[in-house]
Amino acid sequence: MVDSHGRTIRDLRISITDRCNFRCVYCMEPDVRFASQEALLTVDEIIRVATVAESLGVRKVRLTGGEPTLHPHLTALIAGLSSASGVEIAMITNASLLKRDALREWKAAGLKRMTVSIDSLRPDRFARLTRSSASPHQVLKGVELSLIEGLTPVKLNAVLIRGFNDDEAVELAALSRTFGVEMRFIEYMPLDSGHAWDSSKWVSASETRTTIERTFPLIPCDDDDPSSTARTFRFADLRADSPARIGFIAPVSTPFCGACSRLRLTADGQVRPCLFSTTEWDIRSPLRNGATDEELADFLIDATWTKQPGHGISSLGFRQPERPMSAIGG
Ligand code: SAM
Ligand code: SF4
Repeated sequence: MVDSHGRTIRDLRISITDRCNFRCVYCMEPDVRFASQEALLTVDEIIRVATVAESLGVRKVRLTGGEPTLHPHLTALIAGLSSASGVEIAMITNASLLKRDALREWKAAGLKRMTVSIDSLRPDRFARLTRSSASPHQVLKGVELSLIEGLTPVKLNAVLIRGFNDDEAVELAALSRTFGVEMRFIEYMPLDSGHAWDSSKWVSASETRTTIERTFPLIPCDDDDPSSTARTFRFADLRADSPARIGFIAPVSTPFCGACSRLRLTADGQVRPCLFSTTEWDIRSPLRNGATDEELADFLIDATWTKQPGHGISSLGFRQPERPMSAIGG
């Protein structure tokens, strides 16, 4: 699948539920409204879309949400995706509910990799940030279990918000060294359900890098995949082959739209050519109205063709999409 700007689609991000046990301040307001149960795609519908996408060249699927681990049939979904579509399956989670048995089941069903979000290591702040009673300890336990169960490479994600948790950049970066994983800092994007984003709360990737380098000098890695969202760095005091790395995902300050290979499917069956799309393509209707695989393939090809050249966050006419990140699937 190629869009009208010549970009090839290889990655499908699937939000498998819009529900979450957290209400992170940069993502979901406490009173966010969820889609009705009937509106959500079933396991079979998700597998069907992924299988058609695979026939069009998609090679990786990332399960996201909301919180994907809340999905009631997650093992069946992973197993079905793995056997029907053969794509590489990764998942991103807040890790607060991870249990060893479930991780084993998902791995056996075909899950390959895990990304875990962690924005603060201070229990009181973590609770305020996630508006939950969970603790950073639970999340770190989830990271450890994911490593033990071989869902590797495990990656960690953090969003820094000025005046909230930006003073933890170095401690979060140090997690990379503790666990031997890549710790990625994502720039805060205007995708929160409360529309509370403003540039004064935003911390640029370059500022974060400067802060980290006061403690841990970094060296750019030269093996980044060009379509990857992250630019990665290794620690100057560690061996070049150490798995401990720092990644910066800078969609606001350094958009990577030119190399984007992603398409998104929301939990309620809308195809979004871009995180910031203001137009969605309703694939749930053809799915439920007896469309053939060829018709679904044409649908995905057409939706992909409309992928916008860039998100335009910095342009004057920028409009924040109605859906928050939790409904789009980050
Ligand atoms: N609940 C899971 C989690 O938190 O990892 C998966 C879904 S969450 C929407 C996926 C990723 O989006 C997380 O790493 C989260 O930090 C990020 N995210 C959510 N809202 C964001 C925002 N406004 N700006 C930047 N990243 C955001
Ligand atoms: Fe839930 Fe993830 Fe959004 Fe936090 S970032 S509210 S954990 S979906």
